[in-house]
Amino acid sequence: MPIDAKVAAQFPADTFTNLERVDRMWQKLRQGQTSQREMVVSSDEYLKTIDVEIVIAGGTLGIILAAALQLRGVKVAVIERGELKGRVQEWNISRSELAVLVELELLSEAELAMAIASEYNPARISFPNTPDIWVQDVLNIGVDPVYLLATLKAKFLEHGGRLLEYTSCDRVMIHPNGVAIKLGEAELTSKLFIDAMGHFSPLAAQARGNVKPEGICLVVGSCASGFTQNETGDIFASITPIEHQCQYFWEAFPARDGRTTYLFTYLDAHPDRFSVEFLFEEYLRLLPTYQNIELAQLNFHRCLFGCFPSYRDSPLKTPWARVLMIGDSSGSQSPVSFGGFGSMIRHLSRLTDGIEMAIQADALSNRDLQLLQPYQPNIAVTWMFQRAMSVGIAQKVDPDRINNLLAAVFQSMDSLGDDVLRPFLQDVVQFPALSRTLFQTSISSPLSVIPIVPHVGIITLVDWLINYISLSTYTGLYPIGKLLTPLIAQLPPSQQYRYQQLLQAWKYGAGRDLHI
Ligand SMILES: Cc1cc2nc3c(=O)[nH]c(=O)nc-3n(C[C@H](O)[C@H](O)[C@H](O)COP(=O)(O)OP(=O)(O)OC[C@H]3O[C@@H](n4cnc5c(N)ncnc54)[C@H](O)[C@@H]3O)c2cc1C
Repeated sequence: MPIDAKVAAQFPADTFTNLERVDRMWQKLRQGQTSQREMVVSSDEYLKTIDVEIVIAGGTLGIILAAALQLRGVKVAVIERGELKGRVQEWNISRSELAVLVELELLSEAELAMAIASEYNPARISFPNTPDIWVQDVLNIGVDPVYLLATLKAKFLEHGGRLLEYTSCDRVMIHPNGVAIKLGEAELTSKLFIDAMGHFSPLAAQARGNVKPEGICLVVGSCASGFTQNETGDIFASITPIEHQCQYFWEAFPARDGRTTYLFTYLDAHPDRFSVEFLFEEYLRLLPTYQNIELAQLNFHRCLFGCFPSYRDSPLKTPWARVLMIGDSSGSQSPVSFGGFGSMIRHLSRLTDGIEMAIQADALSNRDLQLLQPYQPNIAVTWMFQRAMSVGIAQKVDPDRINNLLAAVFQSMDSLGDDVLRPFLQDVVQFPALSRTLFQTSISSPLSVIPIVPHVGIITLVDWLINYISLSTYTGLYPIGKLLTPLIAQLPPSQQYRYQQLLQAWKYGAGRDLHI
């Protein structure tokens, strides 16, 4: 149903420009038109001077890591093609995860309190024909990206960090002793280059061989005031069966200036998939039913659109020496979430320690840097979940299949208690919790579970089984590895670096990093 002119007139002026921009990116993905630009090239010549130790391109999540490293005394430069500032829309996260910002001295307690723009409780998980599940303190904090990034930018500069705004990173030349980054006519040299240019980074596209993503999460939504009820949130809700060859999901959060509501869905990038504009029309069609309100009652502050590609081969392993990807360009977040800020915060301490060690030990070969974005079985197992929540373009399925499956899984998790449900809702899958959920759901709702086998296909299932076995292995390896840690103090720095990264890979890969 096309967007009603009266409703469209209520939207902020940039709404349709943003919508068209995201739709263009989505159309390119569907048509397989990825960037063919060769952004990274190599040279055998040695650089004569090194300006800074690290250059980070992309200042959204890049400035968080840049500030953490600069505070440790590592010399960092950040390149940002626009102005380095956060978006107005809040990032949702759980409070316990934010403690790292104080631990790394990026924010004082008072600054952290200022960065928290909104907080609510409880949050709901809701599927048709089953009781709602309510949880406390999960994704219930709205962080103000404008304040957070401005504070970190100031701290970065205060500690001697170098910031080049309105400067685009055009090309990266890898030399045997460093990296030269072309910035128009200018050049900056460093020991290590970090790509934080987001999902559509041309560098990440080159590293992946310009392949099409295997999965997509499309998101549309808004932040609006005028809702009659705005005390609680929804982390995961469904109100309709499968329509248009996909399952719609909803999220809702009380925000500082209203209520944020998102409609999202998991798809493949088939050329015949619908546009973001169509999904936005669907959002406006269904929002009144979802929130029990007329569109005319709402005052829209901003409309939001996102297209998140995901690749089975993630996180992206750098093929180059002296080049590392972080944030969205690294594909390190779970394919079932669009919580890239949350993922960065969860890995911030590990990345800061690891990168500092890599610089000190001069462990900057591609194999050494790959250890900083290691295989994580707990993320890899979620691939099958994404598959289970999506429908092929020509696949014939019972319209209630996904709702029934998810309702059964969440009811099982809820019955097993907080230590099963809460990590999962925070994007952390742990072996004991996953195993108990699978067992419980298979016993309590076999008819919802069995159809999943033909639904996802045997290859996905075998792949999942391998990742599940790895998850159990990592869970066992981490405590053993920790016991051996005192012995590694005798090793040379580069070997200490490698051992530490292996230990971190086991810890994070088993979901043992979660602090509740
Ligand atoms: C609608 C929506 C809702 C979201 N909600 C949440 C949430 O509630 N919680 C959460 O954790 N996450 C959320 N996210 C995800 C989060 O916003 C992203 O994960 C995060 O912004 C990724 O940051 P990034 O720095 O990796 O990439 P980006 O945000 O894409 O930033 C990349 C930066 O690189 C710069 N850049 C690009 N190319 C160049 C170049 N050539 N030279 C120099 N600079 C360059 C860009 O200007 C930009 O500043 C949401 C995203 C969307 C779209």
